Amino acid sequence: MYIIMLGAPGTGKGTIGKEICKKFNLSHLATGDIFREEIKKQTELGIIADKYISKGQLVPDEITISMVESKLDKLDDVVLDGYPRTINQAECLKKYLESKGKSVTAVVNLDVPDEDLVTRTSSRIICSNKECGASFNTKFMPPKQEGICDKCGSPLIKRKDDEPETIRQRLDVYHKNTEKLIEYYVNEGLLFNINIDIYCENVKEVTTAKAVEEINKRR
Ligand code: ADP
Ligand code: ZN
Repeated sequence: MYIIMLGAPGTGKGTIGKEICKKFNLSHLATGDIFREEIKKQTELGIIADKYISKGQLVPDEITISMVESKLDKLDDVVLDGYPRTINQAECLKKYLESKGKSVTAVVNLDVPDEDLVTRTSSRIICSNKECGASFNTKFMPPKQEGICDKCGSPLIKRKDDEPETIRQRLDVYHKNTEKLIEYYVNEGLLFNINIDIYCENVKEVTTAKAVEEINKRR
């Protein structure tokens, strides 16, 4: 099973993607998390990726696609979070899966108005432990203890690219590149849309339940 999480920065792709992984026993492959880990380790890939990420731009396709394919070589049931982000990546993914005799099962599109996204993303904090990677929000989903991850007790940190100016740049990139994937996957007959109200109290549970229901119809 291959599930794609689509949505602008800050829609909760990571949080909801992880919930879907738990429900269906899938692996979580998040390109943003992989890049951040490579940057932390200052690998060759990380140093190149950092130049783009810190400006809110996409890492070039030739780097991203081969990185994802080498991860997918070792995985069969996956939630793809943050990939594909361009039509070219989507087409490469299709070909790659075809060569394995597989295909995309469903595409979950999380829909949140832009003004809510800047609000939500600028108050986001994430777990510094990469094995955990839980995401919290000082305004909308605060941890039980300030600055500490509920799940693993590690310190919570702010992402460098979660500053308002970089967030706006990422939203721009999303509208220019990634939004085109909505039409692409509608045409493939794979996409379903979930409208999210970030002010709803149980937004995580409600969104996850809707996603699980739709995925079950398509399995
Ligand atoms: P968000 O969706 O909140 O922006 P991610 O963690 O998914 O966060 O991605 C962070 C950054 O990593 C992106 O702004 C982009 O620079 C880079 N990135 C992640 N996935 C891709 C991808 N598929 N193609 C190119 N760049 C990517
Ligand atoms: Zn944690």
